[in-house]
Amino acid sequence: MLDKAPNGKVSDLLNALDKALSAGEVERAVDLFQTDCYWRDLVTFTWNIKTMEGKEQVRDMLKARLADTRPSNWKIADGEDASEADGITESWIQFETEAARGFGHMRLKDGRIWTLLTTMSELKGHEERLGFDRPMGAKHGAERNRTTWKEDREAEARELGYSRQPYCVIVGGGQGGIALAARLRQLNVPTIIVEKNERPGDSWRKRYKSLCLHDPVWYDHLPYLPFPRNWPVFSPKDKIGDWLEMYTKVMELNYWGSTECKKATYDENSREWTVVVQRDGKEIVLKPKQLVLATGMSAKPNMPKFEGMDIFKGDQHHSSQHPGPDKYKNSKAVVIGSNNSAHDICAALWEAGADVTMVQRSSTHVVRSDSLMELGLAALYSEQAVQAGMTTAKADLIFASLPYKILHEFQIPVYNAIRERDADYYKRLEKAGFLLDYGDDDSGLFMKYLRRGSGYYIDVGASELVANGSIKLKSGVDVKKLTEHSVILSDGTELPADLVVYATGYGSMNGWAADLISKEVADKVGKVWGLGSNTTKDPGPWEGEQRNMWKPTQQEGLWFHGGNLHQSRHYSQFLSLQLKARMEGIPTPVYGLQNVHHLS
Ligand SMILES: Cc1cc2nc3c(=O)[nH]c(=O)nc-3n(C[C@H](O)[C@H](O)[C@H](O)COP(=O)(O)OP(=O)(O)OC[C@H]3O[C@@H](n4cnc5c(N)ncnc54)[C@H](O)[C@@H]3O)c2cc1C
Repeated sequence: MLDKAPNGKVSDLLNALDKALSAGEVERAVDLFQTDCYWRDLVTFTWNIKTMEGKEQVRDMLKARLADTRPSNWKIADGEDASEADGITESWIQFETEAARGFGHMRLKDGRIWTLLTTMSELKGHEERLGFDRPMGAKHGAERNRTTWKEDREAEARELGYSRQPYCVIVGGGQGGIALAARLRQLNVPTIIVEKNERPGDSWRKRYKSLCLHDPVWYDHLPYLPFPRNWPVFSPKDKIGDWLEMYTKVMELNYWGSTECKKATYDENSREWTVVVQRDGKEIVLKPKQLVLATGMSAKPNMPKFEGMDIFKGDQHHSSQHPGPDKYKNSKAVVIGSNNSAHDICAALWEAGADVTMVQRSSTHVVRSDSLMELGLAALYSEQAVQAGMTTAKADLIFASLPYKILHEFQIPVYNAIRERDADYYKRLEKAGFLLDYGDDDSGLFMKYLRRGSGYYIDVGASELVANGSIKLKSGVDVKKLTEHSVILSDGTELPADLVVYATGYGSMNGWAADLISKEVADKVGKVWGLGSNTTKDPGPWEGEQRNMWKPTQQEGLWFHGGNLHQSRHYSQFLSLQLKARMEGIPTPVYGLQNVHHLS
């Protein structure tokens, strides 16, 4: 092959792909891929979130979807240049389909496609009104009985859900529901968020008082409205609560606070939900076509059951109910668990003067915040990345372009480097008896998060207290029972206690479907979250994508949305486009609807 500059290589490949796909020649298109190729599609070809792994899966997908996707105009994205390093040529790309405009990313190895990311940017004919197309706001001229923006908003608030039904109801008004509703607003999809807390942001405000975000500001922006440049790196929980409240207002969301969703049922004939909600004490029935559960993957407490909990005389609660340390200044506190919440709560109790013991049943992955920021996130999400021209949208897409199947291979060297850099720190923790792990395959925090959403602590200070014994530690043991004034561990140790905090994590989001809809529907859609990596708490078979998140489920009209701030921002784009397309009656044949292998 001629040694061409990167732009030439990418353009040649895209031209060949364009020709093959336009001619409907699947084999010619498949020939342009490496044997070990990955094509991750966010809604453009598959109306699904799906990774095709290997040529056979690419072939099958194209055979099923090429004819009505009708892709065209593949080229290097406007204003971008391809680049080359370590034998990989990579480029931002753009293309169109019959229904949409797409943006993506491609990596070539030996002149063939190794990874391809195709994402939907906008639906043709249903573009968001941005830039040159932004709304006028003012209505110039003279008009009798004209209404103001405020009057229009008030009328909408009066009518929507009463005399006019929303197309979409989102249950849960944390940052997930809010980000999705903001996108749906821009797409003119009538939507109501129902939230049992009073105000947007309360799901953060109600968490323990010392909580600050563990992820840095560059990772946390909401759609459309990034944090200002003076926003702190790690946002305190009440500050993020206020931001969400402000955001909800200025993005003009129909947010029903103090409203609890009690029950939802789907009518397969009318293809409509009946959603019963209690708003300020009154029952209201909503009839949306689409129901999104944005009820939080860290919101359904896993409360253990131990003998003696009923006779324990002190305070006991799940970490999500922990009010903070003020009441427990001179108390003896036992915290069950050793992940993020356990560490944060132990540290705050110690700061307040309590006598604190952490009970660690099994190993935990701990990573120092500084190291994670510098080695794990800085290339994409940091001030240096911003200075180097990285945008949030690009960072999200680069992250999305790394196929889940091989993501751990990119992560293992990062965590090896962290282990080397922080070797003394890890040694001290082990010496204190702390059980450490780095993930089943040493791939660290992100993989643990994606696979099981638990099992780690981003160290913002508590580990030093564990290492130096300020927070007492009992590891490799479980709770046997509680007595009136103590916790008895499986090794026979008795820990006197005035307070027991169960920092025992959260259950799968399909538990919400069971609570709000039915067990049958929860079982029909199956487990939510995880990749099927066959690692701890993420049983196989391999699924290739996160189960049930942001994509069609086995229950028509039912969707799950959420994740951390980065995921909510990024995937709300693709969920909102899927919902908009359905509202507009655009055909959305789903390719590769996920099979259910696990119930919860
Ligand atoms: C201690 C802790 C620290 C965390 N730190 C970070 C971090 O640093 N960065 C990050 O990105 N993520 C972090 N997370 C994860 C965090 O949970 C999420 O990012 C965020 O809260 C998820 O937003 P969400 O909207 O999906 O869910 P939530 O914020 O949990 O919101 C779900 C909402 O649904 C509502 N709801 C539930 N059932 C009903 C019903 N029947 N009717 C009406 N409303 C209902 C709840 O009241 C709640 O407000 C942390 C989580 C915890 C527990």
